[in-house]
Amino acid sequence: MIRRIGPKLVIATHNDGKLREIRDLLAPFGIECVGAADLDLPVPEETGVTFVDNADLKARQAADLTGLPALADDSGICIDALGGRPGVHTANWAEDEAGNRDWTRAMERAWSELQQAGPDASSDAHFACALAIAWPDDGQAESFEGRADGTLVWPPRGDKGFGYDPMFVPAGHDQTFAEMDPAEKHRISHRADAFRKLTEALALS
Ligand code: IMP
Repeated sequence: MIRRIGPKLVIATHNDGKLREIRDLLAPFGIECVGAADLDLPVPEETGVTFVDNADLKARQAADLTGLPALADDSGICIDALGGRPGVHTANWAEDEAGNRDWTRAMERAWSELQQAGPDASSDAHFACALAIAWPDDGQAESFEGRADGTLVWPPRGDKGFGYDPMFVPAGHDQTFAEMDPAEKHRISHRADAFRKLTEALALS
């Protein structure tokens, strides 16, 4: 069943980088996006064991609290030599003792764990993204997954993007996500991949 998601959609994230990218990706569809922080929504506890679980719970909570359709993103980086870690715990690797997020710290941990995996450890990794959309009236929700394959590099390069972008070079490219023009990242990212599936399934045009 095709459901309407406009004209107003809650973007269930408190992460400014994600909000900016989701706004850019939705810009062509004339949907008004309002972020979770602007609505004073609480930060949900991410108790799921998969990206889809977490995206789904964030979207459902925002739809229930606002009475509006809500879109949530759960994403992270999965490093082959670390058995897919940090995966759903990607954001936790940025947290310091006081609970503040520091992305330099997160990237240092990822690189340090990769070094500890040994000199022959592969630096292959992928970003994964699950997008979930939930409607308030009947509890319906749908989710879509995307990924972007690449390799990790050190030291980090570039000041665009957010999170782990400065240490990720997507396959077939020389620049990190943080060195690329945002429009180029939007063409090839895990989030764009999931978005393509969402826009097709919801027949957005
Ligand atoms: P969560 O989805 O709120 O659990 O957070 C996932 C974390 O993964 C983000 O805070 C970022 O650090 C990282 N992440 C997700 N997508 C991207 C991306 O496109 N670039 C860089 N880091 C990302």
